[in-house]
Amino acid sequence: GLAERLQGTLKKIRGKGKVNEQDVKEMMREVRLALLEADVNFKVVKKFIADVKERAIGEEVLDSLTPGQQVIKVVNEELTKLMGGEQSKIAVSQKPPTVIMMVGLQGAGKTTTTGKLANHLRKKHNRNPLMVAADIYRPAAIKQLETLGKQLSMPVFSLGDQVSPVDIAKQAMAKAKEDHHDYVLIDTAGRLHVDNELMDELVQIKEATSPDEILLVVDAMTGQDAVNVAESFNEQLGITGAILTKLDGDTRGGAAISVKAVTDTPIKFAGVGEKIDALEPFHPERMASRILGMGDVLTLIEKAQTNVDEERAKELERKMRTNDLTFDDFLEQLAQVRSMGPLDELLDMMPGAGKMKGLKNIQVDEKQIGHIEAIVKSMTKAERETPSLLNASRRKRIAKGSGTSIQEVNRLIKQFDEMKKMMKQMSGMQKGKGKKKGGL
Ligand code: GDP
Ligand code: MG
Repeated sequence: GLAERLQGTLKKIRGKGKVNEQDVKEMMREVRLALLEADVNFKVVKKFIADVKERAIGEEVLDSLTPGQQVIKVVNEELTKLMGGEQSKIAVSQKPPTVIMMVGLQGAGKTTTTGKLANHLRKKHNRNPLMVAADIYRPAAIKQLETLGKQLSMPVFSLGDQVSPVDIAKQAMAKAKEDHHDYVLIDTAGRLHVDNELMDELVQIKEATSPDEILLVVDAMTGQDAVNVAESFNEQLGITGAILTKLDGDTRGGAAISVKAVTDTPIKFAGVGEKIDALEPFHPERMASRILGMGDVLTLIEKAQTNVDEERAKELERKMRTNDLTFDDFLEQLAQVRSMGPLDELLDMMPGAGKMKGLKNIQVDEKQIGHIEAIVKSMTKAERETPSLLNASRRKRIAKGSGTSIQEVNRLIKQFDEMKKMMKQMSGMQKGKGKKKGGL
C-alpha cells in the first residue's frame, strides 16, 4: 500500500517545520505510482498530481502533524474532493414516479444493481419501486430480473422480448402511474462495447420517459477502460451519476476517480457483492483512503488527538518507545481506545494493522473487558509495573483473586506483550508527530 511505500520518504522529512518542494516531489512520485496502480486514468493522475503539488508546497505544517502526514492530508482531501466530496443522494421527483434508467456495458451489473436498488429504496426509504425489464437482447435478461423480483417479492414489468424497449418503457410508465409506484427502475440492455445502435435506443428511452436519473453502472475492475465508457455514455446520453460495482474484489477503485473526473457526475452507490443487499451508498472519503491504501489514518490521528490527554499521551508515548508499558497503562489504553469506538473498527483504521503479526490475539472481545479489568486489579502494584514478575504461582493467585482461570490470565499476559509490540510499532510509525501527539 501507499502508506508503507511512503514510510521511507516520510522518515526523511520528519521534523521539518515547512514542506518544501523536494519533499513534495518525492512524496508525489509515490502517490502517482499508487494511483496508477489503482488503475486511475493517467491523464487524471497527471492533473491531480499537479493540483496537489501546488497546494502542498509551502503549506504551514499543522502543530499536530508531521510534514509527511501533512502531505498525506492534502492528498487525501484532494482525492476526496476529486470523487465528489460529499456523499451524493438519489433524486426524488416532485412529480412521482421518479424514473431511474440503468445503463452501462454488458456484464457491468445493471440487472443485479436494479434489484439491489429496488431493495434499498424499499428497505431504507420505504418506497414502492417498479422494476422494468427493457433488455430484450441478452438471453434470459428478462428472466433474471423477474427472478430478482420474485426473490424480493417486488413487481417487475415486462412484455417479453418481442416488444421494443422504447414501447416497454412507455407502457411501464403508464403502469407505474396506475399502480402508484413512486420509483421506476429501468433495466436497459448493454453491449460489449459502446456502439451507435445501443446509444440510439437509450436516447429514445430517455426521450420517452424523461428520467430523473440516468445511472451509469460501471464495473470497478475495468480500470482504465472506465474512462472511455463513461465519456461515451455521458457525451451521447448524458448521465446523472454512476454506480460502481464489484468493489468487493481486489480492485482498488481507481475507476471511481476516473468516472467522476471525466463526467463530473457523482458516484452514488457501490456494489460490494453478488447478494441483493450488497449495495452501499458511496463515500468519497472512504474510497480515497482505500485508494491510498492507508486505512482511515487521518481519522485515527484526529480521534487520538481529541481523546487523549496531551501530557499523559507524551508519557505513554515514551513508555511505548522504551517498552516500559505497565498493566496500569494497559488498562488505561484499553479504556481510551474503547472511548473512541468499537475495537475492531479502530483496528481497521490503523494502517497495516491487518498485517501485524499476532493481531488476532489482541483482538479483545468487548465482553471480556470486564475480566481483563478484574485480572489487572488482582495484581499487586509491583506486578503491574514489572510484568516479568508474573511467575506461575503469582498467576494462579491472580486467577483465583479475579474469579477467572489461569488460562485467561496467561492469555491476557500474552495479549499484553503483543499489544506492547504493536504499540512500539505504531509509535515508530508516528514518531516525531507534533506536540499534540496521540497516545495510540
Ligand atoms: P448486466 O449485464 O449489466 O445486467 O450485469 P448483471 O447484473 O447480469 O451482472 C453480471 C455479473 O456481475 C453477475 O454475475 C452478477 O452477479 C455480478 N455482479 C454484479 N454486481 C456485483 C458486485 O457488486 N459484486 C460482485 N462480486 N459481483 C457482482
Ligand atoms: Mg442485464
